[in-house]
Amino acid sequence: SDRPLEGRVALVTGASSGIGRASALRLAKAGARLLVNYYDDRQSAEDVVAQIAAAGGSAVAHQTDVSDENQVETMFERCHKDLGPPDVLVANAGIQKDADLISMSADDWDAVLSTNLRGQFLCARAAARAFCARERPSDGASGNIIFMSSVHDSIPWAGRSNYSAAKGGTLMLMKSLAQELGPDKIRVNAVSPGAIMTDINRDAWEDEDSRQDLLKLIPYGRVGEPDDIARAVLWLASDESDYVHGHALYVDGGMMLYPGFREGG
Ligand code: NAD
Repeated sequence: SDRPLEGRVALVTGASSGIGRASALRLAKAGARLLVNYYDDRQSAEDVVAQIAAAGGSAVAHQTDVSDENQVETMFERCHKDLGPPDVLVANAGIQKDADLISMSADDWDAVLSTNLRGQFLCARAAARAFCARERPSDGASGNIIFMSSVHDSIPWAGRSNYSAAKGGTLMLMKSLAQELGPDKIRVNAVSPGAIMTDINRDAWEDEDSRQDLLKLIPYGRVGEPDDIARAVLWLASDESDYVHGHALYVDGGMMLYPGFREGG
């Protein structure tokens, strides 16, 4: 069907921009009711909600700092109250605070680990509690968690050790929870994007020279767009991917293929 998520409820963090926004729109188009989480850009979140409503879907915007335990609990209560019990979590919110190790402040380290890893832990825990509290369906998953990781869960990244450490942590968080929650019929996976044009990496693609440099790392020859990731999120969120469990799906135009070896090897 073209609405594989009809009747389901999905919660997407960091959904007012970039990959989160594209994912929320895709899931809504597939029939899910959406909680559109945002951090500080209320207007953009309301725009996403309005776009979903205009297409006949239903969604609410909800402000939450994903690194705050109480706020995360409140977000899941809001979801339950306004939309129903959640079926899908897309733990997408993430930031970068780039610095060489020598000049990296402890605040830069903590900010990235708090949002990117603690935030994913808190949201996954709240989702798993909600999934376990309800009756199990006779077939299919009783819950679905999708973490937004990165090729930098595997590719080291000088000058961004906080970010790559957090994403490496996301990968093992995902695998450990998949092992742990499988018996509860909760599916757990990650999407690991390559270079996608969003606000987080505007410097890397906005001007032509930087874009050409970036393309050297991408065998498929184009920089990614948020919807490239959103389509993978939709597949993992739907029963089409039932039995895919504990997997990180790299959606990266081949960035993981060591493209330097084309010339250098
Ligand atoms: P983005 O900056 O557009 O999106 C990040 C979102 O997270 C923003 O909406 C921001 O408001 C939100 N956010 C930040 N701190 C938050 C907090 N404490 N609580 C709740 N929300 C918070 O950039 P994006 O590229 O769409 O990033 C989304 C995810 O994709 C991130 O986890 C990022 O690490 C990952 N990612 C992006 C790329 C890329 O090339 N763009 C590549 C790999 C992974």
